[in-house]
Amino acid sequence: MKPALYSEKLTENKVQCKLCPHNCKINDGKTGICLVRKNINGELFSENYGKVCSIAFDPIEKKPLYHFYPGSIILSIGSVGCNLKCKFCQNWEISQTSVKNYPYLKDYSLTEILNIALENKQNTGIAYTYNEPTVWYEFMLDIAKQAKKNKLKNVIVTNGFINKEPLKEIINYMDAFSVDLKAFTEEFYQKYTSSKLEPVKETIKFIKGSGKHLELTNLVITDLNDNEQTFSKMIDWIAGEIGKNTVFHISRYYPTYKMNNPATSKSTLLKLYEIAKKKLNYVYLGNIRTGEGQNTFCENCRNLVVTREGYFTDSKGLDDEGCCVYCKQKIM
Ligand code: SF4
Repeated sequence: MKPALYSEKLTENKVQCKLCPHNCKINDGKTGICLVRKNINGELFSENYGKVCSIAFDPIEKKPLYHFYPGSIILSIGSVGCNLKCKFCQNWEISQTSVKNYPYLKDYSLTEILNIALENKQNTGIAYTYNEPTVWYEFMLDIAKQAKKNKLKNVIVTNGFINKEPLKEIINYMDAFSVDLKAFTEEFYQKYTSSKLEPVKETIKFIKGSGKHLELTNLVITDLNDNEQTFSKMIDWIAGEIGKNTVFHISRYYPTYKMNNPATSKSTLLKLYEIAKKKLNYVYLGNIRTGEGQNTFCENCRNLVVTREGYFTDSKGLDDEGCCVYCKQKIM
């Protein structure tokens, strides 16, 4: 437990949290929508500070990040809580609970996490993932500062629903962002995630403007966000605002949590993949085995430069600077 950043005291012992666009006004003794920021006697606290639900070395491709140190491993850590209420959440056991209601959390100090990260010489850095890391803001920020000093890379896997000021602060310490762009209508965001699309678009634009590495993921859910016209609009926006070299992951949905729609069909995924590929140079298919949907082809000479099979990555077609060995095009 630690005092929360980005909070403001209100009258009658209330506090307002200004970490994300919900801007919750929280009564004494209550938590915000994310379930992990609590008003105690008129002061806001981060309840999940130092509380870890999972810690593991993962392939960086699992985040998913395909153009950031391909084939490397990264220490991945997460806690409980989320500021969204996605009915299709694949990690709902940890995202939709609180410190009090999740008995498997372990306490870690900053130093313990850093030591684990530094002891493994193969490790690239630290990824804040599993639950929504922005609602673990204070712990993430403290670790990220130390990790940076120790030349570790910081990676965040996020829904992008964060206010501009905290984003501006954390971005100084982050090296790569994997952002979930869940759909491209306000209606979807409101109905199925209890949040809003516009702030997520703002976050994506801001990250792009910062020059930090950015990859986007879209989970395609049968009958909910698989409309070709809406999908095309999203791709047009990405190509226009973020750029045609944006790395874009199309991910297959499977029924989970409160969502019973059937798993996304392979034909739908392939159709959307073709639509995306017309405008973007680096499109990948995730959560499904396909012939070439995980491989990287050079945008210039079209040669195969990275082959991926499950989490095995072979980047023989890239030189040490991340350029294509055939034509020297910069890829990563
Ligand atoms: S981070 Fe949590 S408490 Fe703060 S505004 Fe967002 S949902 Fe509310």
